[in-house]
Amino acid sequence: MQLTILEPARPPEGRRLPAWLKRPLPTGDVLLQTRKIVAASGVATVCEEAQCPNLGECWSHRHATFMILGDRCTRRCHFCAVSTARPEPVKPDEPARLAEAVRRLGLRHVVITAVARDDLPDEGAGHFAECVRRIRDTSPECAIEVLPADFHARDELLAVLVDAGPDIYNHNQETTERLSPKIRPQARYRRTLDVLRNVKERRPAMWTKSGLMVGLGESREELTTTMRDLRSAGVDILTVGQYLRPSEDHAPVERYYPPSEFDDIAAEARAMGFASVASGPFVRSSYNAAEVYEAISRQRRA
Ligand code: SF4
Repeated sequence: MQLTILEPARPPEGRRLPAWLKRPLPTGDVLLQTRKIVAASGVATVCEEAQCPNLGECWSHRHATFMILGDRCTRRCHFCAVSTARPEPVKPDEPARLAEAVRRLGLRHVVITAVARDDLPDEGAGHFAECVRRIRDTSPECAIEVLPADFHARDELLAVLVDAGPDIYNHNQETTERLSPKIRPQARYRRTLDVLRNVKERRPAMWTKSGLMVGLGESREELTTTMRDLRSAGVDILTVGQYLRPSEDHAPVERYYPPSEFDDIAAEARAMGFASVASGPFVRSSYNAAEVYEAISRQRRA
């Protein structure tokens, strides 16, 4: 198939971002309170570790995405700011500390992600499942969204986490099949699809979700194919956001998509049958996750 590589919109000079990617500096009492509770828990957040541009907005609404199993990853993806290093031993009290932070924050929806723990025999699946159970016990009204690594698509490990009963199983595809080996060399495009398909087949009523970054050099045709692959794997919820380079050591931004193009992508994805699509420059996998979940749950009940 002939691919049309879109003409890169010339990135602005130096490190300056286009006007639509500027955000106000975070301030406010709620944000400070969130920071305090998160710090007291001793659990890392991907908001901080990945230098997310939405931190001010999300934390002002008491929404943080917790990152369990430490803050050192066994993989090195070229888009991600989380550090790659020998991980620390798993802390058995982390599920209790996480559950307490969720309770103190009064969350109605929590997103839990984790570094990839390829060093552990169960890749962290058991610890992840324990976090889900602890939160269920202490905050029964809170919706739980998990965003784990791929567990190498091992059936028995996926079962451990799915059987803990999260409300949403999120696993990001991140980029297209062609760019995958370059951007996330230790992951596999097809394996990600296998994970998502496995979860949906195992528990059809569980929402599945996946996210893509744009601006890494993909074509629109490739993006269409990727979205179609995700839909074919049974994915219900799709997020699409602009890739931003965390540092000079990471993959460069090839193109900044204007907001109108994100709207076009959303329209295309909705036509493919996703139950929910969030597409915009600042959309991240966990951005507005509570609102997205509540909207699709209402849709299902109607
Ligand atoms: S979008 Fe997600 S990672 Fe970013 S600040 Fe919000 S909750 Fe944290």
